[in-house]
Amino acid sequence: MFTRAAIPTFRAARTQFTRSVRGYASEAPKAEKKPSNIPFIFGGAGVAGLGVWAYLERSGKQPLAPAVPGLNGDAWTPLALSEVEQISDNTKVYKFNFEGDNAANKTAGITVAGVVLVRSPTGEGQVNDDKGKPVIRPYTPISSPDQRGSVDFLVKEYPTGKLTPWLSQLKKGDEILVKGPMTKFEYAPGQFDKALFVAGGSGVTPAYQLISHALENKADQTKWTFLFANVTEKDILMRKEWEQLAAANPDRLKVVYFLDNAPENWTGESGYVTADHIKKHFPREEGDKVRAFVCGPPGQYKAISGAKKGRDQGPVGGALKELGYKEEEVFKY
Ligand SMILES: Cc1cc2nc3c(=O)[nH]c(=O)nc-3n(C[C@H](O)[C@H](O)[C@H](O)COP(=O)(O)OP(=O)(O)OC[C@H]3O[C@@H](n4cnc5c(N)ncnc54)[C@H](O)[C@@H]3O)c2cc1C
Repeated sequence: MFTRAAIPTFRAARTQFTRSVRGYASEAPKAEKKPSNIPFIFGGAGVAGLGVWAYLERSGKQPLAPAVPGLNGDAWTPLALSEVEQISDNTKVYKFNFEGDNAANKTAGITVAGVVLVRSPTGEGQVNDDKGKPVIRPYTPISSPDQRGSVDFLVKEYPTGKLTPWLSQLKKGDEILVKGPMTKFEYAPGQFDKALFVAGGSGVTPAYQLISHALENKADQTKWTFLFANVTEKDILMRKEWEQLAAANPDRLKVVYFLDNAPENWTGESGYVTADHIKKHFPREEGDKVRAFVCGPPGQYKAISGAKKGRDQGPVGGALKELGYKEEEVFKY
């Protein structure tokens, strides 16, 4: 139901909207005062798209209308819940539909790797922080950037959290407000020969967005190793999707699961990810162009890459430092 949409699209319409995101609290990051380049980019993409459309029409193939931007980096856009699926005890996948004219051709316009900001609608029921301001949280869509008509989010619920209990009680048709997209890290094929992604829990979403996007491009030969740490086997989110990706890309993706509480006959790794595990599963040779991504709970950052320093990346620490990784070879989400 929530697979990445295989809808053919005009990739040119995928946005170059590169607004840098540095970090989040309950406040939205301060808007940069640069004029938005969305109209220009989508305008250009629209012209290219119309050319393709005309060609398809002449060739007798079913034409596909040009994609249009469904979100705005400067304003909150309402999206309506259309599907929800419980995928673990505390995690759901939500599909939110674009609304208004041409909703079926709207896309989130994300440049991978990117996020959007989510909040509750204004008025009665608005979720506020202790200062009475709306609670705003970043989320990483797991749907393809080209998916039309809707955006999918995987969200882990924190019963004592502010926004996720509210998200969790939404009914079909209820709205959220979304702003963005914002680029966290601009991925391009060939930036590095091989990449490591260490994630824990809901840190799976940026890993999935980035790795599935990279693997979709068959001309991109970057090889990926994904080390995914969880408490128990049932906490492994999107396991089916990871296994499908690994089976379809045996030369480009290796997935290793780590469990704190491993069952008997467990064939993955047990315990936390360490420097030795990284060396074993992601060996690097002299001259290899590598990048290590990390997204997980604070303890995992500390142990693997060193913590972020406020909104900045901060120095490399933990296992990656022990292994000699340089600052430019590490990206902390
Ligand atoms: C770039 C980025 C992308 C993200 N993408 C996703 C995603 O795709 N999916 C996803 O599920 N999450 C994602 N997150 C996390 C998400 O933004 C929220 O932080 C998460 O959903 C929790 O929100 P909340 O308001 O429900 O909980 P919060 O109110 O933020 O609380 C979370 C937990 O911390 C505890 N807590 C809160 N304040 C304190 C305090 N002062 N002291 C001690 N404990 C405290 C709460 O009790 C709760 O257990 C992402 C985060 C970032 C930075």
